[in-house]
Amino acid sequence: MAVPYADLNLQYQTIKSEIDAAIAGVISGSAFIRGSYVDAFEREFAEAAEVRHCVSCANGTDALYLAMKALKVKPGDQVITTAHSWISTAAMITHAGADVVFCDTDDTTFTIDPAAIEAAITPRTVGIIPVHLYGQPADMDAIMAIAARHKLWVIEDCAQAHLARYKGKMVGTFGAAATYSFYPGKNLGAMGDAGAVVTNDSALAEYMTMVARHGGLVKHQHQIEGINSRLDGLQAGILSAKLPHLSAWTKARQDAAKAYDAGLNQIEDVVVPSVAPERSHVYHLYTIRHPRRDALAAHLGANGVQTAINYPTALPFLAAYQRLGHRAEEFPNAHRDQGQILSLPMFAEITRAQQDEVIDLVRKF
Ligand SMILES: *Cc1c(COP(=O)(O)O)cnc(C)c1O
Repeated sequence: MAVPYADLNLQYQTIKSEIDAAIAGVISGSAFIRGSYVDAFEREFAEAAEVRHCVSCANGTDALYLAMKALKVKPGDQVITTAHSWISTAAMITHAGADVVFCDTDDTTFTIDPAAIEAAITPRTVGIIPVHLYGQPADMDAIMAIAARHKLWVIEDCAQAHLARYKGKMVGTFGAAATYSFYPGKNLGAMGDAGAVVTNDSALAEYMTMVARHGGLVKHQHQIEGINSRLDGLQAGILSAKLPHLSAWTKARQDAAKAYDAGLNQIEDVVVPSVAPERSHVYHLYTIRHPRRDALAAHLGANGVQTAINYPTALPFLAAYQRLGHRAEEFPNAHRDQGQILSLPMFAEITRAQQDEVIDLVRKF
């Protein structure tokens, strides 16, 4: 039996009539840019994310840029982020004008190690961007305590963590702002690029809106030099059609993760994802560790099971950051993980039979 890594068409088939109606509505209303579908999705997503303001934008990468511009990041500032994430998190620090400072991940959760943050702070540090990687919240109590002590802002990168909670509180509600991606493969995915930045601070929301709309809130009145970053109406309509299903899809991912845990955790050399106490993991990815990762991936691939490596090179070791001259010993956990991580097929509609196939193949290996 072939097991895909994800299956976006399957999800579409389950709600086809709702999606098709939304698309037809946007087209017949010519609501392509701004308009009622975008306004509605911003309201609905703010409610779902338990925040006061949602500023939609073109993608989750722009969302990080908008948040940092609104927080007035300037040349010479240092912003701390995790050594292991998608490059957007770090690249936008540079594009916003600051210097990126990497911290290692902790030993077990793949999220930023608060002890490393404390050690990395200098008089130039202005903020911290933790990433709730794979869908597990970072250690927000520890991060917020450090931020308060040193008067730093926090932007949470929630691109992989829609509806995840830390001690019962929704991710994205701890820091000054939080960013989301609705890239098609994310837990809430559009049918193209889409993103948002959320906040409880109305002044910040207004400034982010201005940056995203050519620097002005009123047409032809440009207060600053902004960018053009908008969620289009079709994507908004699609996202509004999907949003009511997100809780059930999240629950299905969590149930699938339990089935993987039960099947995999007795197998020698397999390290299943470890969830820290009082954190709810929404399993954007189900990522194991294995000392012979490449051989295991090849074995699964040869038997029809698709896997992925997120991410094969930790950020400090990418060519893009060669200028920083980092060495492996500075980020021992991220360095170990990049060679051992393997993301298994994970999507809300995955069947137990498909998962048993994956588990069997891992056991045989
Ligand atoms: C997907 C992702 C982003 C970027 O989102 P896009 O919508 O693809 O621009 C940023 N950070 C993390 C952690 C992501 O997973």
